[in-house]
Amino acid sequence: MDLMNYIGGKFERHSGEKWLDVEEPSTGNVFARAPLSTPADVDSAILAARKAQPKWGGMDGEERARWLDRIADGLESRYEEIASLESKDTGKPISLARTVDAHRSVVNFRFFADEIRRHEGEIFEMADSTNFVSYRPVGVGALITPWNLPLYLLSWKVAPAIGMGNTVVCKPSELTPMTANLLMEVIHEVGLPEGVVNLVHGDGLGAGSSLVSHDDVDLVSFTGGTSTGSKVAEAAAPQFKKLSLELGGKNSSIVLEDCDIESTIKGVVRSGFMNQGQVCLCGSRILVQDGIYDEFMERFIEEVESMTVGDPSDEGTDLGALISAEHLRKVEGYIELAKEEGGTIVTGGYPCLPERLSNGNWIAPTVITGLSVDSRCSTEEIFGPVVSVHRFSKDSEAIGIANNTRYGLAGSVWTGDLERGRRIADSIHTGMVWVNTWLHRDLRAPFGGVKDSGVGREGGKWSLGFFSEATNVCVKHD
Ligand code: NDP
Repeated sequence: MDLMNYIGGKFERHSGEKWLDVEEPSTGNVFARAPLSTPADVDSAILAARKAQPKWGGMDGEERARWLDRIADGLESRYEEIASLESKDTGKPISLARTVDAHRSVVNFRFFADEIRRHEGEIFEMADSTNFVSYRPVGVGALITPWNLPLYLLSWKVAPAIGMGNTVVCKPSELTPMTANLLMEVIHEVGLPEGVVNLVHGDGLGAGSSLVSHDDVDLVSFTGGTSTGSKVAEAAAPQFKKLSLELGGKNSSIVLEDCDIESTIKGVVRSGFMNQGQVCLCGSRILVQDGIYDEFMERFIEEVESMTVGDPSDEGTDLGALISAEHLRKVEGYIELAKEEGGTIVTGGYPCLPERLSNGNWIAPTVITGLSVDSRCSTEEIFGPVVSVHRFSKDSEAIGIANNTRYGLAGSVWTGDLERGRRIADSIHTGMVWVNTWLHRDLRAPFGGVKDSGVGREGGKWSLGFFSEATNVCVKHD
């Protein structure tokens, strides 16, 4: 299957001759090709978006919200197809692709349709004047997304961006282009006005960097790694583009002696290994208080080893394949480094799989102990099914360890004392902390990181604020 770009309401072949192979991570088989788009393709997409923007931006919010609902309906009608394409393209278990990826992609459009309906300007009265605040579209947006949650994250950007009256050019990861293509098919089928949403496939260095540095792009919303984020920020800076960066993380799960051990083990395992540990929010450093350490470790390892690693299309699979051979090598490199840094691999290795999966990117969930909390493996983002466990005695020590990384995305605290949980959470320098849960999302709440985990916030009114320009008109009465 050869994919095409979607520009100005049409599926178009790219202008270059080169293609990118799309591989199935679980087998290594190539099952599609994506265009390696050129700067000329990026130019046409931006031109189409620019042309469409005035009319689209001039529509009222209710009308745009209705378009978002139509897109949600279209996605919902292809729910199972989204799940199976996402599972095939990323290597994640089908059950996860269904309950997380397909589900959230539909919900994102519906949620922002409702938010946009509710969204209003503000009025601030002074003794002699009235201020009328309105939210105008920014213009043309570049939306760049990673491979771990492809449609989930793309829909999280497209819905608020177009909902607020912008037009957009999307650039999904070259590794996972399939569901972005499906979204364009849905957008085409529902008849969204041409040029409102455009898609250019390609690599980061080619299509991605041409897009973010383009003179005619007004905003950039980027989700991806921290080092790419800094290149994107550099490219966007000269024209003062509006910029949102959702970047990497190295998140701690803090387990206190007074926690409910049963639900904590389940929560910490889910947080450490969901999507093979390839979620920016994954709790890959587990800090366990002295008094519960031995019991926790015994039951934790038992739970980790009970997970089924295997064919992503099997309903019973808990963990699938890593995204690529290159990424697998990176993760393996960190496991080797952990040994050099004095760590002990308590469980890990390679899963035993059928012959047809032998060329996939496989590794078993891996637990490392004995690492210093300052070691590279304990402070750098590995982004795979690898966690390190550390022991602590006082709450202040756990807080110190949790804050001891360049990242500041998320974290979780597991305790029977909610006040204590809140106190610890308030001392952790990240954008989000969960107490006795993880990845429990209210889409109205702010989402984003501090330090090297990003700039800006997404979610509810924060997304609407980013994808608009708040403008004040002050009228003096007399
Ligand atoms: P990358 O940073 O490698 O890529 C992200 C996107 O940027 C891809 O579409 C990529 O294209 C594109 N890109 C690469 N180089 C450039 C460039 N110079 N200019 C413009 N675009 C470029 O991240 P990954 O795809 O590897 O995703 C994993 C990372 O994403 C992890 O660090 C993870 O923590 C982070 N992430 C953060 C989230 C958050 O909300 N904070 C959520 C999910 C993931 P291509 O792939 O084609 O090269």
